[in-house]
Amino acid sequence: MSLTKETLNQFKSDLQTRRDNLARDLAAATAEMIDDDAMYSDSVDQAAADTDKGITVQMKNRERDILVQIDEAIRRIEAGSFGLCQSCGEEILEARMKANPATTMCLDCKAEVENKRMRYPGRV
Ligand SMILES: [Zn+2]
Repeated sequence: MSLTKETLNQFKSDLQTRRDNLARDLAAATAEMIDDDAMYSDSVDQAAADTDKGITVQMKNRERDILVQIDEAIRRIEAGSFGLCQSCGEEILEARMKANPATTMCLDCKAEVENKRMRYPGRV
């Protein structure tokens, strides 16, 4: 493992900050949705609010996914497997980890997955 302890600690505190911010956003978005329900009384506004809510729910699901990925990245740091490709076990480039610390695959493996996804859309 070529990442130094300091680098790992840096990654960890960055991830924890991102995690906290996301968790706070999610909590705020949830509180807003509850407020909206009380605000709209006629059905037209309610329909518009429901559309908005659909988008908000999608965003929240995405944020929750990211939250899970961040949690897993923090766990990998603690387990000592951070920065290793989950597919081939090779080290992932540090620059790549910096760009997206939650990444779990090296460029080659990622490219392979993307390739499959292009060839068999919706099946991978
Ligand atoms: Zn790999």
